[in-house]
Amino acid sequence: MKYYLTTPLYYVNDKPHIGHAYTQVATDVMARWKRLEGNDVFFLTGTDEHGQKIERTAQAAGKEPKAFCDSIVPKFKDAWKKLDISYDHFIRTTDPEHEERVQSVMQTLFEKGDIYKGTYEGWYCTPCETYWTDLQLEDGKCASCGRDVEKLSEETYYFRLSAYQDRLLKLYEENPGFIAPDTRRNEVISRVSEGLRDLSVSRLKSSLSWGVPFPVDDRHTTYVWFDALLNYITGVQWPGGERFKYWPADLHIIGKDILWFHAVIWPAMLMALGVELPKRVFAHGFWTVEGEKMSKSKGNFLDPLEAIDNYGLDAFRYFLLREVPFGQDGDYSESALAQRNNTELADAVGNLVMRVVTLLNKYTEGKIPPRGKQEPGDGNFIQSLSIYEQASAKMEKQEFDKALDIIVGLARNTNKYIQDTKPWVLAKEDTDRLNAVLYNSAEAVRILAIYLDAFIPDSAAGIRKQLNVKPQLLKGAKYGFFEEGHEVGQAKVLFKKLEAKPRHAFERVDLRAARIVSVEDHPEADKLYVLRVDLGSGQRTIVAGIKPYYEPAELEGKTVAIVANLEPAKLRGILSEGMLLAAEKDGVVGLLSVGAEPGTQVIAEGIRPRAAKKISFKNFGKLNISVKGGKAFVDSLALSAGDKPVTCERVKDGKVE
Ligand SMILES: [Zn+2]
Repeated sequence: MKYYLTTPLYYVNDKPHIGHAYTQVATDVMARWKRLEGNDVFFLTGTDEHGQKIERTAQAAGKEPKAFCDSIVPKFKDAWKKLDISYDHFIRTTDPEHEERVQSVMQTLFEKGDIYKGTYEGWYCTPCETYWTDLQLEDGKCASCGRDVEKLSEETYYFRLSAYQDRLLKLYEENPGFIAPDTRRNEVISRVSEGLRDLSVSRLKSSLSWGVPFPVDDRHTTYVWFDALLNYITGVQWPGGERFKYWPADLHIIGKDILWFHAVIWPAMLMALGVELPKRVFAHGFWTVEGEKMSKSKGNFLDPLEAIDNYGLDAFRYFLLREVPFGQDGDYSESALAQRNNTELADAVGNLVMRVVTLLNKYTEGKIPPRGKQEPGDGNFIQSLSIYEQASAKMEKQEFDKALDIIVGLARNTNKYIQDTKPWVLAKEDTDRLNAVLYNSAEAVRILAIYLDAFIPDSAAGIRKQLNVKPQLLKGAKYGFFEEGHEVGQAKVLFKKLEAKPRHAFERVDLRAARIVSVEDHPEADKLYVLRVDLGSGQRTIVAGIKPYYEPAELEGKTVAIVANLEPAKLRGILSEGMLLAAEKDGVVGLLSVGAEPGTQVIAEGIRPRAAKKISFKNFGKLNISVKGGKAFVDSLALSAGDKPVTCERVKDGKVE
């Protein structure tokens, strides 16, 4: 049977991040699984290279758009190589074959009346390449990314999407598996039920030139989404190429943000063209990193390639699919990754392989023994090796986490079987029985490697090497393959235990720029001021012992660094919600000041604070903050806020207390 699956085309204005890696790994695992089932698989991935955003990014980089894309595409290909992504074809929307086919689609749809000329009025978000209506805008900004939008009124060609509402609803109803997971399916059905608007599919060349020329009107350029979606058929040489035998797609794996395009617009386009529809669109969720949304401004960009360098390819691949049910959002954390690796890969799988190969080398001269004296209990164990139906049912629904639970369960079962039967005791008492236990265990390890081949191919190859067997398909995952006398290899550690990297204590501290609004004497203490400070989001009171060093006029209007997540404390009857930072040297005291807007977070080089909890005064005191040459540091890491250094005017070198 053929099986055709795809990833979305990735926009080439950035380097690959964890979201890209996630889609790639999931699609790769599905492709490998289908190959292991014996199918003729075609796995398509690629890059989306047209549109205003790329035109502008290229311009900013001083390059022609195509040359710019040429410089980015290798980064994606290198990343997929490092992630061991087994795609069969990499399509670029700038491929001439693709562009020609896109034009032929536009021409056909125009002739059929599914594309017509009109005028567009609406709000356009350039980064998202999306038009919004007045109602869709959120606070006057793009409803997707929150950026400014431009009002556009221009001649355009429309795709008659509205004509397909009934057929789309019928599609969803008759094919419950067409959109997954179910929650997403329900969202789409309810939106489509509300009615569909025709979709603008061209822009005037004057506003967008970097795209596929619109065939029926040379003053226009094809809308980038229309062009990109068509890759799924142009990538298999629609209409008449040899590869078109793979169509229809069995599975489009995408991120949930582009579900509308894939579950609504794409099938409508195919209906208009009279091309068979894909079978399934799966929209996966998003990752936060250590509990926070990933963004460049937070400095928590997670580079998947760095993660592989730090933890190993298979630990990373395994974690992505095991940690979170596919379709839901998840949180990436180093400690969760280490935990999965240690308990499931190292303890369950790695330990089993090491044990079995070591036992074979120790007791049967590194050879597979005869099947020996089987006992009734062995039947249950052997039965437990037949997990294909369970695992495959999960894989058909892209429930990767559950499939892995079943597969790793096989390793746990086998560990228990060995524990219960005690081959090291049998070795002294009953060779026949020992042979049976070792034979059965060796079969279990061989079968385990077949299943794991889809998920962690590197490690699966490592297991095969230790057993000295060739790759096998899933139909080989049946008991009874080994022949007596087969020589196995040497035992080798497959998975190293990982430790999440220790955190810098500064990560627990929330330092913020705060503007001093007012200064009053503390009614009960000579050395204390009661300050009101503005943190951008609101004001708070801080009690500070700086009266001997600063006049009120010197303080008012000054923007200083404060510890914003310090446990509140009453100082002589007044609640202080934070602390100012000051350096001291030889009796001179100077506040740390910040040149950024109130509320801006203070960061240290390479460290992104993620303080969710309050910090005690005692724990804060353990940090080594100092001033050198008038600039503030924690250990040797410079402190800054909004790209401006945290400084001290009065004290050039001293300790911050
Ligand atoms: Zn936007």
